[in-house]
Amino acid sequence: MTAPQSIVIVGAGQAGGWAARTLRAAGFAGRITVVGDEPHPPHERPPLSKAVLAGASEPAVCHLFKPEALAALGLDRAARERATAIDRAARVVLTDRGRRLGYDRLLIATGSRVRQLAVPGADRPEVHYLRTIADALALRERLVEGRRLLVVGGGWIGLEAAATARKRGVAVAVLEAADRLCARAVPAEVATFLARLHASHGVEVRLGAKLDRFEPACGGGIDAVLADGTRVAADTVLVGVGIVPNVELAREAGLEVANGIVVDDQGRTSDPDIFAAGDVTDLPAARLGRRVRLESWQNAQEQAMVAAKALLGGDARYDPLPWFWSDQYDANIQVLGMPERWPAGVVRGDPAGTSFSLFYLRPDAVPDGEAAIEAVVSINAPRDLRAARRLIEQGPSGACADARRPAEQPSETVEPCRRLRPRAPRCSPWPGRARSARCTARSRAASRRPNRSTSVPRTTASGGVRPRSGRT
Ligand SMILES: Cc1cc2nc3c(=O)[nH]c(=O)nc-3n(C[C@H](O)[C@H](O)[C@H](O)COP(=O)(O)OP(=O)(O)OC[C@H]3O[C@@H](n4cnc5c(N)ncnc54)[C@H](O)[C@@H]3O)c2cc1C
Repeated sequence: MTAPQSIVIVGAGQAGGWAARTLRAAGFAGRITVVGDEPHPPHERPPLSKAVLAGASEPAVCHLFKPEALAALGLDRAARERATAIDRAARVVLTDRGRRLGYDRLLIATGSRVRQLAVPGADRPEVHYLRTIADALALRERLVEGRRLLVVGGGWIGLEAAATARKRGVAVAVLEAADRLCARAVPAEVATFLARLHASHGVEVRLGAKLDRFEPACGGGIDAVLADGTRVAADTVLVGVGIVPNVELAREAGLEVANGIVVDDQGRTSDPDIFAAGDVTDLPAARLGRRVRLESWQNAQEQAMVAAKALLGGDARYDPLPWFWSDQYDANIQVLGMPERWPAGVVRGDPAGTSFSLFYLRPDAVPDGEAAIEAVVSINAPRDLRAARRLIEQGPSGACADARRPAEQPSETVEPCRRLRPRAPRCSPWPGRARSARCTARSRAASRRPNRSTSVPRTTASGGVRPRSGRT
């Protein structure tokens, strides 16, 4: 692989910005051109549904680099300019300003865009989306005390916006078509916590609500009409029903695209001189035993850093341990790993309260039937999450016994009490498989001790706790 002299990055979001920074940190002194269709310097998005929407911060808080640090990177920045095609034979990116940007290596970091609602009336001016700085500022103007916000979609963006709107004195209702909130991202017990959290702050959460159309309301504003004829009146609607990866540039250039641009563990696409990173990629996750597309701040940054090093010929590899956080009211919710396939085996704290952690165990992961931590959801319990991260990163030694150490114990002192043998091949799912006797015995012992985790309770729809029976 010859050393590149000229690198083009398409997309000035989290992944594009961190790739540029990593290239310079690695000593690359050649030309870096960053093409971004938004008017802003490289920026991140999490504050948009939080501090920026709340009015506590201005959009500059999203900029990845202070002006002097950005200048020091020495980038050729093309803002408000869209890459329209890639001519792979000529190694050129074409833009909507008619420019032809030559590259030795190319990084595609085009992220994703909001999924649009396709119901009648969805084009009314009261209907908003939240992805960009401009979106956040437009929505913020509408969040005035005493007004009504209807959120369509009970996912992370919708729920964060709902929490922020309540802080601004706005009346909020959330419509979710599924039978629980955040159904794609978290298990039922976390969804129950979220529903209870929002209800306790006065949000009207309607589950199983199928939106049919929007209509102008008699006294002004907008009515959402549900499939069963129910009308929900609002002044403003925020639609948060997911995102779509911006793969068109890659697809039209003939690159392999599946659930995103297909890359290897260095971010390399099916063209060895073209890399991709961030929301737009379909990437291998050896740790999870499958390919995934991750929509998170951490992934955009870390994958971009690995891809940037690989662009220069480095041999860094990326095996994500997915991590996502959300802030809603006074709840900090962190999700480590993917808790979608395994029952919560250990609970620390009280799921009916405001601080607890759920540890998702995978007892088929090692030959003797001992459980390994596969994923963790922590609510206002960052220490639990830090300790679990270390255990998971140690690979084969994420023992369930460690998850049961007392919550008040400083995470720094949490040691694996017993190293497990390496994980078995990840081919056997766990339907109906009993937990190992050792793990179960430890759970029972732990449940008898005060302040230790119990065998897994589950929260009920009304917010109570009932004993666990079966899978999540
Ligand atoms: C409101 C909000 C809150 C969030 N909060 C959290 C959170 O709390 N925690 C968390 O982990 N994650 C959060 N996320 C997700 C996280 O921000 C994304 O995963 C991350 O931004 C992905 O970065 P990216 O660089 O891949 O894509 P993006 O940030 O989308 O950047 C891609 C950029 O490329 C541009 N572009 C696209 N096509 C072209 C083209 N052809 N030419 C030029 N430019 C182009 C786009 O306009 C965009 O500016 C949040 C996202 C949003 C929208």
